[in-house]
Amino acid sequence: MYYGFDVGGTKIEFGAFNEKLERVATERVPTPTTDYDALVSTIAELVSKYDNQFECEGKIGLGLPGMEDADTSEVLTVNVPAAKGKQLRADLEAKIGRTVQIENDANCFALSEAWDEELKDSPSVMGLILGTGFGGGLIYKGKVFSGRSNVAGELGHMRLPIDAWFHLGDNPPLLDCGCGKKGCMDNYLSGRGFELLYAHYFGEQKKAIDIINAHAEGEEKAVEHVERFMELLAICFANIFTGNDPHVVALGGGLSNFELIYEEMPKRVPKHLLSVAKMPKIVKAKHGDSGGVRGAAFLNIE
Ligand SMILES: [Zn+2]
Repeated sequence: MYYGFDVGGTKIEFGAFNEKLERVATERVPTPTTDYDALVSTIAELVSKYDNQFECEGKIGLGLPGMEDADTSEVLTVNVPAAKGKQLRADLEAKIGRTVQIENDANCFALSEAWDEELKDSPSVMGLILGTGFGGGLIYKGKVFSGRSNVAGELGHMRLPIDAWFHLGDNPPLLDCGCGKKGCMDNYLSGRGFELLYAHYFGEQKKAIDIINAHAEGEEKAVEHVERFMELLAICFANIFTGNDPHVVALGGGLSNFELIYEEMPKRVPKHLLSVAKMPKIVKAKHGDSGGVRGAAFLNIE
């Protein structure tokens, strides 16, 4: 049995998966926001409860918005204050008496998609999230590639490529990022970025969904905006794909529901790729909101 925990800012979602990777249990509990001992106990109690229910010792994986410091194993996170700076993995292992895996939640999302029935035979799968932020994860032969510092897949904090900058015209918006740098892709390609760009060029705050609906009706500004955005996305994707060369790319997050992306990327990305590179297949993520917990559970697949 594989146990996954998706530890978020407000709730912890638990999922148990059998050997066929089918979900056999689900539970959601509030995340203890500041009490670290309560956080450790909450997770340990869920493990104990489902061990008893399934009469086994499930393998444990945890996804969270952040990562472990690769040298000290302290958790680096903003959204789960109780875990910040703590050696969560070691403390859970001591309390439960079993190995625990911890991974970034975007990497868990990617891993969940990579183990989808239709994608599991692809040697490499990249997950990209076009949500509140932009980020992703790279899965190679069914395993997360975390890198030296556990930041592999933090694509949102790569700066805009120079061709993207030129594409934005004579008055490009140089946006500050929460990470302290300027020009990170996160602020341009996310749902938030989609809205920021609209506000920059048209001086109007508009929600992404309203812009998309206006685009469907052929409204002039929305059409101009979507044209600019699709090309920007294609340029950035092409830079990312040239450097990572994934076989398949699964898109998640709110903006991934914009169907036009799946029509436009195959037309627009190839001309920006390294000429010898093949275009990866781009699909919509199939496991949506349960991706985090599935991926966390699947960290233990051998
Ligand atoms: Zn950044």
